[in-house]
Amino acid sequence: MRFAEQWSWCTVDAIRDVAPTIREIVLRPDQPPIAPYPIGSHINVVVLVDGQPMRRCYSLVGERACDLYRIAVRLAPNSRGGSRGMWNLQAGMRIEISNPTSLLDIDWARQNYCLIAGGIGITPIIGIASALQRRNIGVQLHYAVKSHADAAYLDELSTMLGDRLIVHASDQGTQIDLPASFRALPDDAITIICGPMRMLEAARRAWNEAGRTPSDLRFETFGSSGLFPTAEFRVRLKHTDAELVVPQNRSMLDVLNEAGFDVMSDCQRGECGVCAIDVVSIEGQIDHRDVFFSAQQKQGSRKICPCVSRAVGTVTVDTLYRPEAI
Ligand SMILES: Cc1cc2nc3c(=O)[nH]c(=O)nc-3n(C[C@H](O)[C@H](O)[C@H](O)COP(=O)(O)OP(=O)(O)OC[C@H]3O[C@@H](n4cnc5c(N)ncnc54)[C@H](O)[C@@H]3O)c2cc1C
Repeated sequence: MRFAEQWSWCTVDAIRDVAPTIREIVLRPDQPPIAPYPIGSHINVVVLVDGQPMRRCYSLVGERACDLYRIAVRLAPNSRGGSRGMWNLQAGMRIEISNPTSLLDIDWARQNYCLIAGGIGITPIIGIASALQRRNIGVQLHYAVKSHADAAYLDELSTMLGDRLIVHASDQGTQIDLPASFRALPDDAITIICGPMRMLEAARRAWNEAGRTPSDLRFETFGSSGLFPTAEFRVRLKHTDAELVVPQNRSMLDVLNEAGFDVMSDCQRGECGVCAIDVVSIEGQIDHRDVFFSAQQKQGSRKICPCVSRAVGTVTVDTLYRPEAI
């Protein structure tokens, strides 16, 4: 594992819907006070899916409170059921969580920040906006949603940021103009973005085209739902007769490992690239869902991150497994 995790128990303290498909869940740890953690952190939770314990991550909403964690969960359609399990929680129920950790390495020394959230990607951004606002530092937040009704925490955010909160609602035909926004930023500004894969890719393109320092664009993904619907596909293994089926609700990484074709992995979110394996050929199309490879590498499709990426059709891969070597 990448982080040394400590697990502890909480009680569900309160639940409320903050948008039609987003439910806020407040957790009270058994052993307060909560130790300081980096803003933008998330916790892992153990959630029951079909009676089986599964792990899911949820960003902490807002700045640290001493005795409560606040998370908000979007009910994901066509999913393996983690978010549904979270929605099944009720006040008073018990849940096991990990200590908070952060994937967002934020440079707090700048004078200007551009925050961008797409949909549920607002959750880690709220605490960051609040901390910057409290320090009286230049911050603007672009919040892209399908409709105003889908936007969670609008009241809290507009009280905090006033006209520095810019909501872009697709149903009203407003869309964030990434190239113009990036060109208008002061030189020292950094952008922190959390949203769907297409938004991240577009931001990365616009950021580079604006001639800005790549490391000044910080982002977090929640896992991508890809460019094609999540469906069953087949994997053939070079140098073997094996042909495996990856069901709709499993990752290629899990299926390969279960079949004995050991593939090393780390983040399992398509960010670190540790699990990347060679693609030999593809009959159909690869649905790259990682943020590790560049757009050019994805187009070349010579490697794939099996933890998140999928295929339509049949993909032949080489995991470097050689039966004669065993
Ligand atoms: C650091 C971090 C922070 C997060 N913070 C939040 C948060 O604040 N709020 C929040 O709601 N969520 C957050 N998430 C996402 C959350 O952890 C869950 O992924 C989410 O709740 C969906 O879980 P699920 O089991 O319902 O859906 P999943 O089954 O994980 O499905 C999610 C999406 O992936 C696709 N999918 C389905 N099956 C597969 C498969 N086998 N392989 C790959 N993709 C598949 C589906 O099309 C669906 O759109 C965060 C994730 C990370 C990594």
